[in-house]
Amino acid sequence: MQYDDSIERSRQYLRLALELIGKHGLPTDPLNYCIWYEYASGKNAQLNTAIDKYLQDKAVFSEETSRQLFNQYIANGREAVTTLVREELKKVFAEIMGAIRITNQQFSQSENNLENINESLVPTLTEADVEMIVNQIKQEIKRLESSSGAFKEQLQQATREIDQLKIKLARYQNEALKDPLTRIDNRRGFEQKLKDAIGRADASKNPLCLIMVDIDHFKKINDAHGHLVGDNVLRMVAATLKDSIKGRDLAARLGGEEFAILLPDTPFDGAIKLAEDLRLTFERLDLKKKSTGESLGKITLSFGVTTYNIGEAAEDFVNRADEALYQSKKTGRNRVTGL
Ligand code: GH3
Ligand code: MG
Ligand code: MG
Repeated sequence: MQYDDSIERSRQYLRLALELIGKHGLPTDPLNYCIWYEYASGKNAQLNTAIDKYLQDKAVFSEETSRQLFNQYIANGREAVTTLVREELKKVFAEIMGAIRITNQQFSQSENNLENINESLVPTLTEADVEMIVNQIKQEIKRLESSSGAFKEQLQQATREIDQLKIKLARYQNEALKDPLTRIDNRRGFEQKLKDAIGRADASKNPLCLIMVDIDHFKKINDAHGHLVGDNVLRMVAATLKDSIKGRDLAARLGGEEFAILLPDTPFDGAIKLAEDLRLTFERLDLKKKSTGESLGKITLSFGVTTYNIGEAAEDFVNRADEALYQSKKTGRNRVTGL
């Protein structure tokens, strides 16, 4: 989103934002300034719809809610990207149009000059006249060459700018698939890669497995040690999951403390083994708080594993992995269930 309001208007928005932050009993931190400023300005329609829905449902805003709203509707906002790309494209277009206009002017000037020379080709020309005309024509040709050379250069410059823009756009598109906290794929990235993997599995008939992962009693970690420590645990879990896979496998954070591992070309027993290895890895870890060295206690994970049935809907595949995870939770956590 662009913040291009007048000082007076932006003050109004900030006043409104502070009122709203107070009204909902939220901490006056930069995350909330940003969310409620955008809300007050009414320019981020999706954010406003999401907040209004929360308010309608009479849901309580927690720190977590703010964080999710920020990540979903502000940090990853597609609107900002398209605006930026549109503005830059406009600039390149203006450059190209400008170059065409100037070249056109120069060409029609040359056309006039050449027409005048043509008219001066009368039967009574002296040798000196002919020499002068030849020089004039030469000069016009030079001018035309330099106009078209400059035009070519301007077009090349525009092409370079468009290439840069393409790179930038690809970077933004990739960024929209990443989770800002853990730097692994987010749900959007997962869904995209799941679709690709299913397409490949349908074509090759190779096995495709999915592991759903959820940290056990994560709320207690936050409650006991604070959100920042909780965030570090999430980063560590994400990094461990990512390090345990290779090639086309994918580790993604689906939201909160829930992750998924997608394993193309992997048989069911291989996926079960990977989940069990991971379960043991975490069970054996003795995590310590960076600042004080204080132990965080045992952090365990629950897993749900399933294999794709050729031709089934992606949703059924994911639901089965969720169901397996749910069974792991129900039967005592820190375990792997295969379905
Ligand atoms: P269970 O074993 O049943 O999964 O219990 P749980 O406590 O892990 O699950 P629950 O769904 O009750 O709570 C999840 C917690 O995860 C609550 C929320 O505050 C925390 N959480 C979600 N996202 C984040 C985040 O980005 N950072 C931090 N620090 N905590 C988060
Ligand atoms: Mg959990
Ligand atoms: Mg959960």
